[in-house]
Amino acid sequence: MRNGVAGAAYRGRTASIGFAHGPFVRVDQLESAQRAAGSLVDEALALRSAIDTASQQIVDLAAIAGGEAAQILEFQVALLDDEDFMAVIFAAIGEGAAADAAWRSELDKQIADYGAAPDEYLRARSSDLADLRDRVIRALQGDQRATLGIPSGAIVCADDLPPSQFLEIDWSGGGGLALLQGSPTSHVAMLARARGVPMVVQLGTIPAAGATALLDGEGATLELDPCAEQIGSFETRREVHCKSRAAARAILRRPAASWRGERIKLFINIQRVEDLDHADAQYADGIGLMRTEFLLTNNGGLPDEETQFQAYDAVLRWAGQRPVTIRTFDAGGDKPVSGFTPGGEANPFLGVRGLRLCLARPEIFAVQLRALARAAVHGNLKVMFPMVTSADELEVGRKLFVQVVAELQANGVAAALPELGIMVEVPAAALAIPSFKASFFSIGSNDLAQYVLACDRSNGALAGLLDPLHPAVVELIKRTAEHGQRTGISVSLCGDMASDPRCTSTLLNCGLRELSVNPSTLAQIKQTVDGLSNGGNHG
Ligand code: PEP
Ligand code: MG
Repeated sequence: MRNGVAGAAYRGRTASIGFAHGPFVRVDQLESAQRAAGSLVDEALALRSAIDTASQQIVDLAAIAGGEAAQILEFQVALLDDEDFMAVIFAAIGEGAAADAAWRSELDKQIADYGAAPDEYLRARSSDLADLRDRVIRALQGDQRATLGIPSGAIVCADDLPPSQFLEIDWSGGGGLALLQGSPTSHVAMLARARGVPMVVQLGTIPAAGATALLDGEGATLELDPCAEQIGSFETRREVHCKSRAAARAILRRPAASWRGERIKLFINIQRVEDLDHADAQYADGIGLMRTEFLLTNNGGLPDEETQFQAYDAVLRWAGQRPVTIRTFDAGGDKPVSGFTPGGEANPFLGVRGLRLCLARPEIFAVQLRALARAAVHGNLKVMFPMVTSADELEVGRKLFVQVVAELQANGVAAALPELGIMVEVPAAALAIPSFKASFFSIGSNDLAQYVLACDRSNGALAGLLDPLHPAVVELIKRTAEHGQRTGISVSLCGDMASDPRCTSTLLNCGLRELSVNPSTLAQIKQTVDGLSNGGNHG
């Protein structure tokens, strides 16, 4: 700490909220010392053994990390198992290249391809590949270390940090992540949010090294070697943040939220059964959205009926009598799945995705509908279709569902047709809402905003324009909510707006009484509703 001279301050983008004060540690790029090429056989054996070492390290990490982290690492293991990919590298060794040069050259090509992808999700995968490249090179250099040796509580700074390195760091004593590049939608950002590690990305160039640092994940700043005044201001901000979180947590335990005397139901969004482990999940009124496409893995794995049934059944059992809304696969757009979504679309967000894709692939869709129909007998299940544009699509999907249930029952299998609703996320659906014979509606404000405002939701350059509070988006939300009030059909909203306290009063004023939020924001949204009821101004 310095007394008078303020330390350098840098601003980036928030990837995970929180505050950290600790030693500053730079994680530098791997030295690229070249190995001299041995005989063809020696080089091939050296690479094979390095791949085995790397593969084992990743499998061990995945076993410790579990859940979402394990799934992220699966991408790397799948690549190491891909014989076509490996054949190119071993062919280069066969032509006389050293093992490290052959490996690096092919991985660099793949990293460049992913790095140049127009889609931010795919671009973010290039750091997973860089991680894999460096892990195998380290093994080739005889470095068997599985950890980076970073002290607990450190502010770790890197150009970008791959998920497996994030998992090797001990975050139990605090600390945070400051990336010069990186993206809030990367896998490492998802892990940081899930583990409550503050993270700021896109800090640009940081010329100076430092001894200590302050990382403010809310204001998206990094301050190096701070002076006493900077530390004082940081600690005040941290205290306000901690108090507001503690107050929100206390409110969570109180009875249901209400606004102007009306009950506001707060549900949660989940992607996998493990998300229910979140400490706050138990206080939700139910599940408002389960994004089942996250059951699909990118190595071509379409889960079979039993695997899907087990997942849906586990969620219903957890919920007891509370309603559970499961959305059928919404693959495509920013969620490509090999073996399922079509390749080569010029504009995947306007392409064959969501229900369009499921209706085009009935053999895959029927498996999911069978698993859902079997789970429906075990709880309060509601099923909804994503990306619905026309009333006909809903009817074709319903017909298939009815047929699947009849077949199961004819074979003596316990099955039921759950309530069937749709996502309202295509502007046409919001505008023509009375034409849909759905049992309920759930507004997908993420896609609704992207289509109304003509802004690709994964394009960071348009983040300023992609405002869900734009009057055109709010108008469509209002019309949908009013349709619900007129007809008595339930309308909720499950896009990210529901999890943003700045949007809460607008959504309630539009007439919505059901919101589905990320489990980590449940307390804050309940606190916001409570504050609005008490005359507070949150939006
Ligand atoms: C939405 O579009 O708002 C939504 C909830 O669905 P997703 O974010 O999965 O597209
Ligand atoms: Mg959507």
